[in-house]
Amino acid sequence: MGIEDDDGNDTGALFQIEEPVAPMRKTTVPGRGIGIDLGTTHSLVAVAPCGEAPRTLGDADGRALLPSVVSYIGETPDVGWDARAAQLSAPTRVVSSVKRFMGRGTADIEFQHPYRIAALGDGAADVVRLEVGQGRVVTPMEVSARILEVLAARAEEALGETPTGAVITVPAYFDEAQRQATKDAGRIAGLTVYRLLAEPTAAALAYGLDKGGQGLFAVYDLGGGTFDISVLRLRDGVFQVLATGGDSALGGDDFDRAVGEHLLREAGVHTPTVLQREQARVAARDAKETLSTAETVSVQWEGGPALTLTRGQLNAVIGPIAERTAAPCRGALKDAGVRARDLDGVVLVGGSTRTPLVRNLVESIFRRKPLSDIDPDQVVAYGAAIVADELSGYAREGATLLDVAPLSLGLETMGGIVEKIIPRNAAIPIAARQVFTNYSEKQTGMMIHVVQGERELADDCRSLARFDLSGIPRLPPSMARIEITFELDADALLTVTARELMTGVKQTVEVKPTYGLSDEDVDALVIESLDNADEDFARRNLAEARVELGRVVLAVSAALTEVGDVEGILVAEDRAAIVSALADGEAAMAPTGPTEHHEIVAVRERLEHVSEAFARRRMERALLAGMEGMSLSEVENTIAADDTLDAKRGSHEAEQIEKI
Ligand code: ADP
Ligand code: MG
Repeated sequence: MGIEDDDGNDTGALFQIEEPVAPMRKTTVPGRGIGIDLGTTHSLVAVAPCGEAPRTLGDADGRALLPSVVSYIGETPDVGWDARAAQLSAPTRVVSSVKRFMGRGTADIEFQHPYRIAALGDGAADVVRLEVGQGRVVTPMEVSARILEVLAARAEEALGETPTGAVITVPAYFDEAQRQATKDAGRIAGLTVYRLLAEPTAAALAYGLDKGGQGLFAVYDLGGGTFDISVLRLRDGVFQVLATGGDSALGGDDFDRAVGEHLLREAGVHTPTVLQREQARVAARDAKETLSTAETVSVQWEGGPALTLTRGQLNAVIGPIAERTAAPCRGALKDAGVRARDLDGVVLVGGSTRTPLVRNLVESIFRRKPLSDIDPDQVVAYGAAIVADELSGYAREGATLLDVAPLSLGLETMGGIVEKIIPRNAAIPIAARQVFTNYSEKQTGMMIHVVQGERELADDCRSLARFDLSGIPRLPPSMARIEITFELDADALLTVTARELMTGVKQTVEVKPTYGLSDEDVDALVIESLDNADEDFARRNLAEARVELGRVVLAVSAALTEVGDVEGILVAEDRAAIVSALADGEAAMAPTGPTEHHEIVAVRERLEHVSEAFARRRMERALLAGMEGMSLSEVENTIAADDTLDAKRGSHEAEQIEKI
């Protein structure tokens, strides 16, 4: 399987790695995997032992939902309902919605929150750390780990045994850093993380939508603080996330605040204190939830008057907020290239989709009744449990799951041009490989610069890692064969390997991104690339033309110096023509040179043309002297001994990596 680049060239061999159906761990026991929905507002754990129907596991009071809230008021952290109740009294020492901080750097935290962020130490990785009182400082990964520990303990009690591994769900748009942070949280909690799973995929699995073998689905997830819309395609039993969208600052909390304000007005409180506002918000949340099944509800908070709220009043307040989910839905359909009527189903996820007004809205957006048989709070955990059961070794008939790479991954090549190795939205896991070559024979090393983003030039993309491949032999320009492999695993975590094929010199780097790319960044990067597509394309073309010209100028002038005046290889009039074309070439490369790519191409073509006979005679002589009886292609094959390599041919012969 190959990926076509813009000019329709095959940019390199690309092969798919097998989906890791079961991790090869000796401790794995079928039926002892657990699925965890690590939510912004609530988290849950579910099991589906050996193909049983999935079920969530409750606490001692039978409550399946665990508020994703950790209190650091006492000596030991407290997780869940009591922590949530304590939030009013000590908002800075009780951490909620920690998912928003996962994988973020200090500069990315632009949303409102009540916490003090600890200063970055010298040389410390840019990981947000929250000050939670009494000198205690915690990372978001640790806070999440406390939540995971409580859920794992629940599972251990219910199963009567230690779980062998967990599947943890993440939003489909989570980037490398956010996924890595989630995995780290699992490890801190002492869990073996089988894999991460996209939340919408989990929900679709819970509905058994994979059973049909084919289909197109939308998953509408309105939680406490976030709204996510995803479009999935199921083909030959394989799920693929076609598009994602949403609003990371829109959810049931916004309903609560708006209803709280309404209640305060009803109560005649025009300048509420902070406490009154909080009391009204909490009362509003309870009232809102009750109104999903009741028509009216009475409301009162400590020191406040007795009020009533009807469903009609609720709808009037929250309607305009809920409407804001419509535009991202249409956007996601458009991105996926499908129309609402092409869908085979719409799945409801998230506590806020219990609200009748939201259900009606979803029905009108997608012009069909959404699937709502499974509790929208539990559906993601169910899907995770099914996959965890499978990964624990229980052989279930069913789907292989695919997620997509949220942004393109590539390398910086000569001239600062990005060569995309794994395109955005490629189904993962995936491995892609491409062969590069050297630019000059002085080169004994290459700098490998890995970037993420949609733009054509490396400067405009996000830098993920730099490393050197050193100790490669000196070879004539374009003769070295450097094979670069990108492996993106099922969790969308990247490993890059660079290997010089002749010597086998090899360098492998696990790309540990610096924490800190927000989903707004991801959106912005994608939008930016669309906005700049034409201009980028022209700049890329120009940069490419310059690189090609530079390579030819370098090769020809080196050859001229080398042959000196050896008769029979270079006749006088050829030499004069070549020297003049070389001068033109050098002038064209200067900053004052032409800025249109076709002008540069013309200069290069003339240089190639006038030096063609010279190059041929020189090559023949080299062959006769060094490797008698071998054709040029045989020479090349000897050098590139690996028959699986697939270098670019033609005028794109191979890309060059910046020399060091
Ligand atoms: P998250 O995915 O962010 O963890 P959830 O899916 O748990 O969020 O959704 C939490 C939100 O759902 C909260 O705003 C809560 O008030 C709301 N919610 C829970 N139950 C109901 C209900 N019966 N009716 C309306 N909203 C509800
Ligand atoms: Mg959720």
